Amino acid sequence: MTLVLGIESSCDETAAALVTSDRRILAQAIASQEEEHSPYGGVVPEIAARAHAERLAPLIDKVLKEAGKTLADCDAIAATAGPGLIGGVMVGLVTAKALAMASDKPLMAINHLEGHALSPRLADSDLRFPYALLLVSGGHCQILRVQGVGNYQRIATTIDDALGEAFDKTAKILGLGYPGGPAVEKLAREGDAQAVPLPRPLVHSKEPHFSFAGLKSAVLRAHDCGEHSDADIAASFQQAALDCILDRTRRALSGMDAVSALVCAGGVAANQTIRAGLEGLAAEFDLPFTAPPLPLCTDNAAMIAWAGLERLNAGFAADPLELKARPRWPLDPDAEPARGAGVKA
Ligand code: AMP
Ligand code: MG
Repeated sequence: MTLVLGIESSCDETAAALVTSDRRILAQAIASQEEEHSPYGGVVPEIAARAHAERLAPLIDKVLKEAGKTLADCDAIAATAGPGLIGGVMVGLVTAKALAMASDKPLMAINHLEGHALSPRLADSDLRFPYALLLVSGGHCQILRVQGVGNYQRIATTIDDALGEAFDKTAKILGLGYPGGPAVEKLAREGDAQAVPLPRPLVHSKEPHFSFAGLKSAVLRAHDCGEHSDADIAASFQQAALDCILDRTRRALSGMDAVSALVCAGGVAANQTIRAGLEGLAAEFDLPFTAPPLPLCTDNAAMIAWAGLERLNAGFAADPLELKARPRWPLDPDAEPARGAGVKA
């Protein structure tokens, strides 16, 4: 049995976890920074970095004590090394380097997106490579063919905003606060999903890429015209987002080599309507559908520890202590840029 300490600090959650190779989360702790960022309606990078610096060490201490372990019991220290808000990533990575150095344990520098991509295998021991992954979070919206540990083929990406960003922006327009995804989902339950005509950007286009900027602007116009209830806007937005996701994922699956399952991960995978829609889509292709349990969908350190375990298991070497934090770090560096996309990876 192998034991890895995982550290996550790429956005607004400070997290530490201890995970074993037989898929047990011995202890985990997450400190959310919702309170610090909510007055600004989004994450302020400088505030985030300072909060990570204050909270991370006590969190690591807490999970070690809770599990009755010391650093000497760990086989490796895994930390997010990117992509993300660079100040926060540096706090987590430097902490991991110091712990690795002090305890003479290997450092595993983890791509945060790889953490999301492999997280379904922490929860589901039957999930085999290759699988199709819809990765939908606050900063990313991609479809990947997960072919093995460290082996990702990007099939689609967003040419503008991430889906979580569109949920958060909709919440802001409707005055629902930050983070917006869960609040939009809750309000949508009281609304009519057909009430507000909203666009479905890129639906039916040949390439399976995503676009949400136009949908976001349409939500703002629908709100400003004053003719619709907030609940109807929330429900209609969620329906439009789901229609985009189903159409784009259907397109991607149609052109993809065989896979064992359709998987959804990342913060937006917590959305029940989106999960249910994807389950139906998977059935069209005779594929099982799986998504991690909700606490493993949003940013957490268990998925980082698990990615470290997967990398150790697959024979990847430890990373050097001089390794740099990376604000951008695509999972598939060979993927062609999507036509019309900005500079986002
Ligand atoms: P992550 O970037 O993986 O931490 O995910 C955070 C993103 O997921 C934010 O943009 C949230 O608004 C979004 N999110 C979280 N829960 C939900 C939900 N239930 N429905 C839609 N979006 C959600
Ligand atoms: Mg994330």
